Amino acid sequence: MTNQMIALEKSKPETGLWRVEAPVPEIGHDDVLIRINKTGICGTDIHIWNWDEWAQRTVPVPLITGHEFAGEIVELGGDVTGLEIGQRCSGEGHLIGRQSRQSRAGRFHLDPETRGIGVNEQGAFAEYLRLPAFNVVPLPDAVDDEIGAILDPLGNAVHTALSYDLVGEDVLITGAGPIGIMAAAVARHVGARHVVITDVNPARLELAAQVTDVVPVNVAQEDLRDVAARLKMKQGFDVGLEMSGNQAALDQMVESLVMGGRIALLGIPPGKSPVDWSRIVFKAITLKGIYGREIFETWYKMIAMLENGLDVRRVITHRFAAQDFREGFEIMRSGRSGKVVLDWR
Ligand code: ZN
Repeated sequence: MTNQMIALEKSKPETGLWRVEAPVPEIGHDDVLIRINKTGICGTDIHIWNWDEWAQRTVPVPLITGHEFAGEIVELGGDVTGLEIGQRCSGEGHLIGRQSRQSRAGRFHLDPETRGIGVNEQGAFAEYLRLPAFNVVPLPDAVDDEIGAILDPLGNAVHTALSYDLVGEDVLITGAGPIGIMAAAVARHVGARHVVITDVNPARLELAAQVTDVVPVNVAQEDLRDVAARLKMKQGFDVGLEMSGNQAALDQMVESLVMGGRIALLGIPPGKSPVDWSRIVFKAITLKGIYGREIFETWYKMIAMLENGLDVRRVITHRFAAQDFREGFEIMRSGRSGKVVLDWR
């Protein structure tokens, strides 16, 4: 093995990413070195590409970006046990501390010291990635590298969808991006009755209907009340999964929910936004914010469901060789794609 590798780096504080030669990371005694096979491009990577206000505040330069990956273990740190060279894996990209009350209670996903690969630490858009062995998630044969590369966003979808019991429930999902669409597939898989997904982008709604058995609604053209009546829902939706960060979508969700309805929020509003709290209080609605994946309960559930027939493959709409990453980012930035996967082999 040479000690140089190809990587995609935020090399300068401006729009874009650059293909660079970088040293292969050196691993510590608790780390593994992973040879990357496939990576997914995330909305987060688009923020970093665009170098928006959030990215400028958050991302150090230079930094190898990317956090959605699948690959194979090629080196083990001296203290690593239970993993093997050659093992196929993905992994949790949130690197957690061990000191906080939450971590010490085993609620790792709530650790306030969390740092993200590809955001705060060297990332996965590279031929090799260093990862703490603790974060490695081995992949069974049923999960190939392409699906392995989108387990991070699928995990967001699973974490959000499994926030509440969906068996027999009517579920409203606002925002038909890849995570919203995958959440719809999860809701179907676990036994929701009606699953309605809303957006104003016809291409995304079309993709949603291709990926799973869901009722797509373009809220620019159709009123949710008419949809509820068409589906013979008596009072409204039982559970809302907010995936858009859009103010109007949250308002529609609150209006469309039953008394005592429950909402899980994954979408991130761009800033402070007005909320009609009195509606939420008088409808006795429960709100839950979702961050990342439960470590590692979400991973366990997600892989078990993939082994048990959950199929989200069609959410991947574009595949490029890693050297053609510009095309991948372009199609992502256009909003006319589902998940875009880069191949590093
Ligand atoms: Zn992501």
